[in-house]
Amino acid sequence: MHDPVTQDRSSLPRDLFERVPDEVLDLCRALADAGHAVYIVGGAVRDLLLGRPGELDWDVATSARPDEVTALFERTAPTGVKHGTVTVILENAEYEVTTFRGESSYSDGRHPDEVTYLDDIEADLARRDFTMNAMAVDPRDGTLIDPHGGRDAIGRRALEAVGDAVQRFREDGLRPMRAARFTAVLEVEPAAGLIDAMRATRDVFEKVSAERKRDEILKMMEARTPSRGWQMLEEASYLELLFPGLEKTVGCVQGGRHDHDVWTHSLGCMDACPPCDPLLRLAGLLHDAAKPETSEPREGEGMHFYRHEQIGEQKVAAWLRNLHFKGADVERVALLVRHHMVIYSPEWTDAAVRRFIARVGKEHVHDVIDLAIADVRTQGRSDFLVPLAEELRGRVGAELKKGSVIDRTDLAVGGRDVMEHLGLDPGPRVGEIIASLLDRVVEDPALNERAILLAIAAELDPGSGGQ
Ligand code: ATP
Ligand code: MG
Repeated sequence: MHDPVTQDRSSLPRDLFERVPDEVLDLCRALADAGHAVYIVGGAVRDLLLGRPGELDWDVATSARPDEVTALFERTAPTGVKHGTVTVILENAEYEVTTFRGESSYSDGRHPDEVTYLDDIEADLARRDFTMNAMAVDPRDGTLIDPHGGRDAIGRRALEAVGDAVQRFREDGLRPMRAARFTAVLEVEPAAGLIDAMRATRDVFEKVSAERKRDEILKMMEARTPSRGWQMLEEASYLELLFPGLEKTVGCVQGGRHDHDVWTHSLGCMDACPPCDPLLRLAGLLHDAAKPETSEPREGEGMHFYRHEQIGEQKVAAWLRNLHFKGADVERVALLVRHHMVIYSPEWTDAAVRRFIARVGKEHVHDVIDLAIADVRTQGRSDFLVPLAEELRGRVGAELKKGSVIDRTDLAVGGRDVMEHLGLDPGPRVGEIIASLLDRVVEDPALNERAILLAIAAELDPGSGGQ
């Protein structure tokens, strides 16, 4: 297929080889001096050839066995020693050093039944998933070892499996999702047949652990345009495997100010959310998940989706819990879904702005507005709402800057003060009184003084012994 001299063993261009940090070369030299074969492999080689800027993640493959690697370096951690990986900790970074290995069968679709250590790099490269991930660089002189034509694939920006895609996906059911992630993050195109291979191996994907799926979702959200990957997952019928029911948003018409079906709008909204925040983007993808089941024709034109934000919140929380997202992350995404419909008008009083902040919570209010802006920007005919949301953002910022009272921690009295003053025992009544005081102070910040609040508390609880 390709010329073994020019393609298997060309050289990495000088300027790219110079991007390899000295620390990585030193690490490799230490292994080579001890008599082991050693190569730079994986994502960093690919990213160099793709011309991706920024810090790269340097992985090393070697003929040294894990115990030999551990013995050579002062600080190591046995991070994946079962699979031959030892993390070497040097001054500037940590590096994964993995023994050349091959894999036998994967009867569970997740883990090779046994890992065999090998002595040569070519066999190690053959077990890797995509051709652009299956290259190695000789740290001594920058020779590129590329038995599967990864460099050529990068030139064509094509994501190709090493060997037969269906077979490779059957070995490890996470690979189809890695395909979607790489397509999104690296901005490459799936090779012909790759999406069909994904569709053909859905049963294996179902066996993959929730944690691995979750991590791929989060990594995919870091792409400039994550919709590239999500579209692939949709085409290969994976949506229902990750978020059962989300597939119903495809083709769900909305009418009104919407130019697109719910799915297309959701993709646009996700892409329009700030790129540095994977969970916010996930909220963008899922914010309208309950629209299909709440859809009813509106009198006149279009549809309405009564309570879709509340039902959506429940749905999204259940999906993310199933995928083992951290509790705080589940809560954050669910909260964003619940509050994504911001209906602001310039007539709002400052008190109304403070009530809005109190409702969504200080720590989430900017994210809620970001999501609302991404939402209206991508509906098709709601652009006129963007300046309104920007205005709200300005007013929220001003209230927060003033130090306005928004939650209990800002109140001039606490539960203990109220209990002492009114002679109350601990119990739900104390919480109710504090909640009422908070409402009053959100309405009128001038009331936030100890004496005033205790007097109001006594009025609220006339039966108690307030003095
Ligand atoms: P990133 O670091 O951005 O996740 P990467 O390609 O470096 O991308 P890693 O998970 O760090 O991915 O793995 C390093 C290399 O190990 C990959 O480039 C690939 O060659 C190989 N690899 C990782 N996971 C798999 C897998 N599930 N199947 C086959 N090969 C894999
Ligand atoms: Mg990596």
